[in-house]
Amino acid sequence: DDVRNQFVSGAKLGEGTYAIVYAGHYRHDPTRLVAIKKIKLNTTLKDGIAPDAIREIKHLSELSHPNIIQLHAIFSTKEQNISLVLEHLPLGDLEGLWKNHSISYGTPDIKSWASMLAQAVWFCHENFVLHRDIKGNNVLIAADGTLKLADFGLARSFADASRKMTCNVITRFYRPPELLLGCEHYGGKVDIWSTGIVIAELVLRDWFLPSNTDAEQLLAITQVFGTPTEETWPGVSTLKLAAILGASTRPQPMDYWRTKFSMLGPDGIDLLRSMLIMDPNKRFSARQVLEHRYWTSAPRPTKKEDLPKQG
Ligand code: ADP
Repeated sequence: DDVRNQFVSGAKLGEGTYAIVYAGHYRHDPTRLVAIKKIKLNTTLKDGIAPDAIREIKHLSELSHPNIIQLHAIFSTKEQNISLVLEHLPLGDLEGLWKNHSISYGTPDIKSWASMLAQAVWFCHENFVLHRDIKGNNVLIAADGTLKLADFGLARSFADASRKMTCNVITRFYRPPELLLGCEHYGGKVDIWSTGIVIAELVLRDWFLPSNTDAEQLLAITQVFGTPTEETWPGVSTLKLAAILGASTRPQPMDYWRTKFSMLGPDGIDLLRSMLIMDPNKRFSARQVLEHRYWTSAPRPTKKEDLPKQG
C-alpha cells in the first residue's frame, strides 16, 4: 500500500490496552520522527469498523492545532489491522509527570500546562469534536515542552467496533456526574469536568477523586461537592440513575479549596471550581474557561521551553 510505504517502523515504544506503539520515521526523511500506533483489533470479528470511527478519524486528521497531537496518516496492514501515524511525543504524559518525584514544578508551570490543555479543548469544541477521554495519561509532551492532547478515543473506537461498542465513555476518575447518573444527552461539558480533574491532579500530585466502582465515584464527588438537589441542579432528579444518590452530604467549605489548592491562588481556585460544577448547564464552557482572569493574573505561565521535563 502506498501510504504504508511512506513510513519505516522501528522499535516498540509501548503497549496499551488497545494498541501497540512503535517508533518510526518518514522513509524519505529519517529525521522526521513519528509514532506508529497499531490498533489491536478483535480478529474473530473483524468485519466491522464503525463508519462513525472512520468519520471521527477524518475529523481528527483535519484538526490542526499546536496543542493537539497531529495525525500524519492512517493505513491498514495485511492482517486488516489499522495503524495510525502520529506525531512523535517522547517526553511522556502529565500523569507520569506528577508521579515522578525527581521532578519539581510550581505555580507558573501548572498554569502553563493548564493553559495549553484548555486551548486544546477549546479548539476541539470550536470544531464540534468532543474528546471524551481526557485524563493525565492522554496528555502528552513534545520534545520542545509543548503539551499535546492525544488519544481521541480513536484506538478504543476502532477496537470496540470489532468487539462491542461500550457506552462507558471516560475513564472513571475523570467521569462527570451527569454520565455517572446515566445522562444520555451530554455535550462538551464532560470534557471540561475531566480537564478540571487533570489540573487538580497536577496540583495534588495525586489522584483527586479516586474510586473502585461507579457508585464509589459518585460518592467521592458528592463528598466534595455535596449531593445535588433540584435547587442546585435543576433536572437532576429525572436522570436515569438519580435513585443511587445517597443521603445528602453538604459541599466542602471554601477552606477545603484554599488549603488543598493554595498553589493555584484565588483566581486558579475560582476557575477550577467553575470547571467542576456538578450541573453541566452551570459548568463553564471551554470559551468561558479561556476568558477567565486566572490566565492573565500573576504569576505569568512558564514559557513552554522552560518547563520541567521528564526523561
Ligand atoms: P496507554 O494510553 O495505555 O499508555 P497507548 O496505546 O496510548 O496506551 O500508548 C502506549 C505507550 O506508547 C505509551 O505509554 C507511550 O509510552 C507510547 N506512546 C504512545 N503514543 C506515543 C507518541 N505519540 N509518541 C511517543 N510515544 C508514544
